[in-house]
Amino acid sequence: MPRLSEVIAALENLWPAERAESWDAVGTVVGDPDQEVTRVLFAVDPVQDIVDEAVKLGAGLLVTHHPLYLRGTTTVAASTAKGRVVHTLIKHDIALHVAHTNADTADPGVSDALAGALDLRVTGPLVPDPADPAGRRGLGRICALDHPLTVRELAARAAERLPATAQGIRVAGDPGALVRTVAVSGGSGDSLFDHVRAAGVDAFLTADLRHHPASEAVAHSSLALLDAAHWATEWPWCELAASQLDEISDRHGWDLRVHVSKTVTDPWTSHSPSPGAPN
Ligand SMILES: [Zn+2]
Repeated sequence: MPRLSEVIAALENLWPAERAESWDAVGTVVGDPDQEVTRVLFAVDPVQDIVDEAVKLGAGLLVTHHPLYLRGTTTVAASTAKGRVVHTLIKHDIALHVAHTNADTADPGVSDALAGALDLRVTGPLVPDPADPAGRRGLGRICALDHPLTVRELAARAAERLPATAQGIRVAGDPGALVRTVAVSGGSGDSLFDHVRAAGVDAFLTADLRHHPASEAVAHSSLALLDAAHWATEWPWCELAASQLDEISDRHGWDLRVHVSKTVTDPWTSHSPSPGAPN
């Protein structure tokens, strides 16, 4: 049975903390390095529902993509939502480790998992990391479709393969246009429009696209946009990361039990006027 420090060392090897953005807050948030770990839970968000799930599961380590605290805090009192998370974790001997922008740019990383979920063939990073001589790490991925799909078909595939959310897949652009190349970026891709345009791809699949950049992209180019819930675009990484840790566990004879949370932590719900009701 490995100690937490050994498991964390393996995770740090996959997603070195020094590769995170300077504003990010990655690494171990809670945990005793000497404690033994038998079960690990992967999830996107370190929220109370997920921590409660880790307690029920008997996990000794929770690994999330999003940080618990992105900025400094002066309290972990259980009267605050995040303080309650910290209390629950410590009370149940559960460690919390975060891999955020260091997992985004990893090879394989968050966008590889998104591409993989849709059976897209990755040809390279959308924004290569200049520190990687092999040119494989970086933000987002450019993918090729061996069999071109229409925008409508690609959206249907995304809706079918990504976990369901209230938002579904929003599409901008001509639904009948053919897609041979697509840029994907798990999480907010709004800042990547210039790179997507420079890549000359047919479509861009990401999350959190805003009105004006989307409206301009569709008006001034043939680029199609597919926008899924932020959580849904990052969730496939949990499965990828879990399989990476499983493999490490096998190699070391750790016999870890590695789980992926299926709890939907997308905060959005959707409301339409009920049929027949005045609106
Ligand atoms: Zn995210």
